[in-house]
Amino acid sequence: MTLKTITSPERMYQWVSRAVLEGRKVGVVPTMGALHEGHLSLVDAAKAECDLVVATIFVNPTQFAAGEDLDQYPRPLENDLRHLKEGGASIAFCPAMEEIYPRGYSTYVSPPEIAAPFEGLHRPDHFRGVATIVLKLFQMVPAQVAFFGQKDYQQTLVVKKMVEDFNLPIEIRVCPILREPDGLAMSSRNVFLSDEQRGRAVAISKVLAEIEPEILRLTDHSSALKNRLTGVMETARKRLEVKVDKIHYLDVVDAQTLQSISDTTTEVVIVAAADVGDTRLLDNRLVKIR
Ligand code: AMP
Repeated sequence: MTLKTITSPERMYQWVSRAVLEGRKVGVVPTMGALHEGHLSLVDAAKAECDLVVATIFVNPTQFAAGEDLDQYPRPLENDLRHLKEGGASIAFCPAMEEIYPRGYSTYVSPPEIAAPFEGLHRPDHFRGVATIVLKLFQMVPAQVAFFGQKDYQQTLVVKKMVEDFNLPIEIRVCPILREPDGLAMSSRNVFLSDEQRGRAVAISKVLAEIEPEILRLTDHSSALKNRLTGVMETARKRLEVKVDKIHYLDVVDAQTLQSISDTTTEVVIVAAADVGDTRLLDNRLVKIR
């Protein structure tokens, strides 16, 4: 399989439009590069469903706040292209910054309400940047299906709601989190961890995994689940606190609304964001309770 690299948005649009007109199903996998097996699992899922797979590589500055790791974000383009070629993607779309945000760029998406808690609270303009770049990518790559990772769970809810609210003609698939053998969620940012930090980082996935059976144990009387979980979450927080350098949040909420668990909740998500050293790590776990 050959991999074609396209940098021009116009050529990208024409290529996908033609493929779709010819009756081909096109899938798009948006990424910021520094690809790992998690990203490649999205390419696999796209290949299983689509005739052609476009992977996009663009480190989107508008989703980083001042002082975050935009400048340090890894950009191993040659490696990424090799991975995509081996992974069987058809096209790598790698637009230049000036093509996406030319001088004077000023139009942004105001993200849906689901963007407000968790990441939205801790990174105020993050989802405005995410929604804007995802909408722009969907315009440039008019694929029928887009593949996102559950790793960024809130992001998947934001994208799905934007697609619904803007009547975008694209289906969103959410793929499972790929993990290292010890459980750490794969992330482009894991390369920033020293050996000592890497050893501590695994606590995040461990603590989430330990909360899951506690939730299931308490769901027999699920109407009071929220209150009964308080103690479980306090203990979990204490266990995580001694391993990471800062907990941004650790919570269990309704998986659809990201609000407190209610009597109508059928699935919960355990969400966590924590710093290990200067590296901010995310993880989550979905648990069906009814
Ligand atoms: P990023 O390059 O970090 O913006 O991620 C691009 C896409 O890959 C997003 O949809 C992520 O949720 C997804 N992704 C990142 N890490 C993983 C992982 N460990 N397993 C599955 N998907 C992932």
